Amino acid sequence: MAQLDVREKLEILADAAKYDASCASSGTAKRDSAGASAGIGSTEGMGICHAYAPDGRCISLLKILLTNSCIFDCHYCINRKSSNVRRARFTAREVVDLTLAFYRRNYIEGLFLSSGIIRSSDYTMEQIVEVARSLREDHQFRGYIHLKTIPDADPALIAAAGRHADRISINIELPTAAGLRRLAPEKSDETIRDAMAGMRDAIEEGADARRRYRSAPRFAPAGQSTQMIVGADAANDRAIMATASGLYDRFGLRRVYYSAFSPIPDASAILPLRRPPLLREHRLYQSDWMMRFYGYRPAEVAEATDEQGMLPLDIDPKLAWALKAREHFPVDVNRAPRELLLRVPGLGVKAVDAILASRRWRRLSLADVGRLSRSIAKLRPFIVTSDWRPTALVDRIDLKARVAGQLELFG
Ligand code: SF4
Repeated sequence: MAQLDVREKLEILADAAKYDASCASSGTAKRDSAGASAGIGSTEGMGICHAYAPDGRCISLLKILLTNSCIFDCHYCINRKSSNVRRARFTAREVVDLTLAFYRRNYIEGLFLSSGIIRSSDYTMEQIVEVARSLREDHQFRGYIHLKTIPDADPALIAAAGRHADRISINIELPTAAGLRRLAPEKSDETIRDAMAGMRDAIEEGADARRRYRSAPRFAPAGQSTQMIVGADAANDRAIMATASGLYDRFGLRRVYYSAFSPIPDASAILPLRRPPLLREHRLYQSDWMMRFYGYRPAEVAEATDEQGMLPLDIDPKLAWALKAREHFPVDVNRAPRELLLRVPGLGVKAVDAILASRRWRRLSLADVGRLSRSIAKLRPFIVTSDWRPTALVDRIDLKARVAGQLELFG
């Protein structure tokens, strides 16, 4: 490997990290204090991404790989052994120094660290843990740390990662075990799930110890997450949501991230030539949201898919479900329980909570509900208010055409 200085390594390893979606990036205004007469910090530095802390704050993280060299050959990955990319590798010390330097300049509030696998899974995991250990113990770093762990590394190393990190992620990689065997033959679905189960147990024990003894050490207090690549194999949306739901239930995951497969330079011949529509990724996030915050069972989300098991792209999955399950509508906003109100297309969690608070004092009219939604005209087929009851609207065969494109899942 050619000798590179830290800046060159940063360019390569921050760019290589951009394929990882499990540090949720979010749009933010571009800001940079460089050259300004006052102020400090920037949102534009290399490898800076944004994630949400458990308390909802948006925080900026230095998002890098320890190395983009890898002894594995996962077909979908730009860093795979057979790929022709420029390689670089940080030492643990260099990552620690970079993190501290960026932190002191107010560029970041934490670190997201992942890595290709060098020498062995254990050796790589030791390096990742050493970065977090040194930040926490040698430098008393109190910022946010998100570590990507390697499932077949020694469980003691994964546990050590959990002691230093706020969040741990273990990638499930593909929606099905068959897809994993085909596209990442050196990885094992069973090993990944075992590692997630071990992490779940350790997180629960850590939380339990903290409840009993306030001085007990924290263990990955922001929980564990995972990432699934969408569109690299034949798994349909129904299968993807079933896998995600199983992961939430079995391993207590905080988040499943869906990353639309994007063709990479020098791609393997067994990969599709085109990426799936970005909207597909968006629809999967909306379905995920329906299960986590709106109380839909996975089988109900599956009802929103078509014969091929795919979610429609032209309407959101909450509306797609409502159009197929018309027997549940219209919903009386002055009487219906919270779980039914949450099923009304166009009513988000905030709007439903506002309806529940207001109706304690008075009966709500269509105009009252309209003030809580972007498009009352599109809500009307699905609700009853003190002054409105749809007459057969919900039975119209052209209902989809009347409301399509107008509703937003979150109201
Ligand atoms: S192990 Fe990770 S870095 Fe290595 S080829 Fe597979 S996905 Fe890429």
